Amino acid sequence: MKIFQASNEIKDYLFPILKDGKSIGFVPTMGALHEGHLSLITEAKEENNLVVCSIFVNPIQFNNKEDLKKYPRTHETDIQKLKSINCDVLFMPSEEEMYPEAPTETFDFEGLNKVLEGKFRPGHFEGVTIVVKRLFEIVNPTKAYFGIKDYQQMLIIHNQVKKLGLGVEIVPCSIIREENGLAMSSRNELLSPVERKQASILYETLKWVKIRSGFATIEEIKQQIRLQFKKNKFVELEYFEIVDMYTLKSLNRWAESNNIIACIAANVGNVRLIDNIILFS
Ligand code: AMP
Repeated sequence: MKIFQASNEIKDYLFPILKDGKSIGFVPTMGALHEGHLSLITEAKEENNLVVCSIFVNPIQFNNKEDLKKYPRTHETDIQKLKSINCDVLFMPSEEEMYPEAPTETFDFEGLNKVLEGKFRPGHFEGVTIVVKRLFEIVNPTKAYFGIKDYQQMLIIHNQVKKLGLGVEIVPCSIIREENGLAMSSRNELLSPVERKQASILYETLKWVKIRSGFATIEEIKQQIRLQFKKNKFVELEYFEIVDMYTLKSLNRWAESNNIIACIAANVGNVRLIDNIILFS
C-alpha cells in the first residue's frame, strides 16, 4: 500500500492512472478504522481499478473542542487493517496540508444543514463539505463511498456534488453493526463495557419503530420513545425524528411522504452516538 502525506505527491501518483482511463474508488474517513469503514473499502475494491482511503481528523467539522481532543487516533493499527484488505493507497494529510489558510468557502445547503445533526452541531456540515470537496479535488475519484450510518452527511454530499458539478458518483453503503445491533463507530471505543451494552437501545428503538411504522401515529411513537429513554439512566436521548428521506423535513403523518427514515441521536455517558433506519422507500 502506498502512503502519501503531501497532496502534490498523491496527485502526481494518481494522474497517470486517471489518464489511462482507470477508475478510482475513494473512501474518506477520520481513522480509528472498524468493520464499517473496511466494508466501504471492500465495496470500492470490487467496483474500481484502484482504491484510495484517506484518514484525516477534520478539525473544522467539530463544534466541540473536547470531542475533537478525545477522538480516537490509531494510525498504526489503521495502516495494518488497510494493508490486510489490500487497500491500494492511503492519504494521511496534516492539518497544514489541508488548510494552509483558514477556509472561507460557503455552500447553499437549502436548509439540510440546519436540521437533525445540524441543529445540535452547528457548522458541522459546512466543515464536512469543505474537507470532502478538497479531498475530491486532490484524489479526483470516479466513485466515492459513504456509509448511510451518517445518512444526512451522505445526502448533503450527494446534493453538493450535483450542485457544484464535481463529477463524482456517490455510492451509499449499508450500516455495519456490532453483535448487539449497535452501529459500528470509532466513538464506540470510548464506551465502557456497560455503556456499550446499554447503547444497543438505539437500534432496539429503531427496530421497534419499523414494526409500528404506518400503524401507530408518529406522535404516539415519539411519546413512547421519550418515555422509554427516561427510564434508562445510561442513555440520554438528544433527538428522535421521522423525516422525509430527501428534504429531511420532520413528518407529522405517514401520508406526508413515501420515502421515510427515522433518525436518532443519544449520549451514552460522554459519547454521542447516532443511528437511523429506513422505514419506507
Ligand atoms: P468516519 O471515519 O466516522 O468519518 O466515517 C467514514 C465513513 O465510514 C463515513 O462514510 C461513514 O458513514 C462510514 N461509516 C462509519 N461507520 C459505519 C458503519 N457502522 N457502517 C457503514 N459505514 C460506516
